[in-house]
Amino acid sequence: MNFFKTLSSAVMAATVSLVAMSASAQTYPDRGITMVVPFAAGGPTDTVARLVAESMSKDLGQQIVVENVGGAGGTLGAGRVAAADPDGYTILLHHIGMATSATLYRKLAYDTLNAFEYVGLVTDVPMTILSRKDLEPTDLKGLIEYAKANKDTVTVANAGIGAASHLCGMLFMSAIETPLVTVPYKGTGPAMTDLLGGQVDIMCDQTTNTTKQIQGKTVKAFAVTSPNRLDVLPDVPTAVEAGLPGFEVGIWHGVYAPKGTPQEAVDRLSKSLQVALKDPNIAARFAELGTIPSPEADGTPAALKAKLESEIARWKPVIESAGQYAD
Ligand code: ASP
Repeated sequence: MNFFKTLSSAVMAATVSLVAMSASAQTYPDRGITMVVPFAAGGPTDTVARLVAESMSKDLGQQIVVENVGGAGGTLGAGRVAAADPDGYTILLHHIGMATSATLYRKLAYDTLNAFEYVGLVTDVPMTILSRKDLEPTDLKGLIEYAKANKDTVTVANAGIGAASHLCGMLFMSAIETPLVTVPYKGTGPAMTDLLGGQVDIMCDQTTNTTKQIQGKTVKAFAVTSPNRLDVLPDVPTAVEAGLPGFEVGIWHGVYAPKGTPQEAVDRLSKSLQVALKDPNIAARFAELGTIPSPEADGTPAALKAKLESEIARWKPVIESAGQYAD
């Protein structure tokens, strides 16, 4: 009898804790979530984040509000999330800069590989090499000659050290063996405004910020950094075709949460990201901007963790041999 009593109270206790667990899993999220974008509003990371946030909000039944925390190539926004309460209500959408800044900044306020929980990958966006529309050259070879001849005055916009535009600009300058004057912004949203206004000459930026401008001919496009031309920009050659051998850059994006965020919340966010990656509206909007959502299987913590680890290892020697640091 005692045995049955003990057994039945153990079963009851287990049932109660299972019910509690599933209740907490079901109640998350019970309020709005802040998604930090570590670059200024109106830029490419912001555009991707707002589309994904809209779709995830529908799935989660709670609003994801995007907050732009730009500066220092994305490290300020990432630092904000690393230090946030790990309660599932503050998350981060960042790009390749999460990996490159781990080497570029020798004194980061957070430990890149240990400060976050991984939610999943979002998309891999090609870059475009652009100039203000009235810059003389008409093709990439002409742009390279022009940059070499005017290296002290040609300005290249970027979103700070560690940003994708910084990385692409750095690769461009090293490919043409000519250092140019760089102008940092808090994101390439505001940098684009200055490119349109003619205050800066050149920029390398994601297609999610540049496709509409290139199609509208408000900027001049010299190359895309993808292995193949893009359907939305059929007249823009690849950098390799246009004369820069091996010049290929893809800007992958991922969603993170602060370290210690409850597993149920991470799993729920990840599931919701996977729903977003299959959302036909996202696929259509991304296609207009020259990119595609990551496959559903990559919208997982394991895929993002593996990507971040491999990208830190990939860029470390490149950055170290360039010897350019942010401090
Ligand atoms: N495209 C930017 C970069 O260079 C970031 C942004 O503004 O979204 O990293």
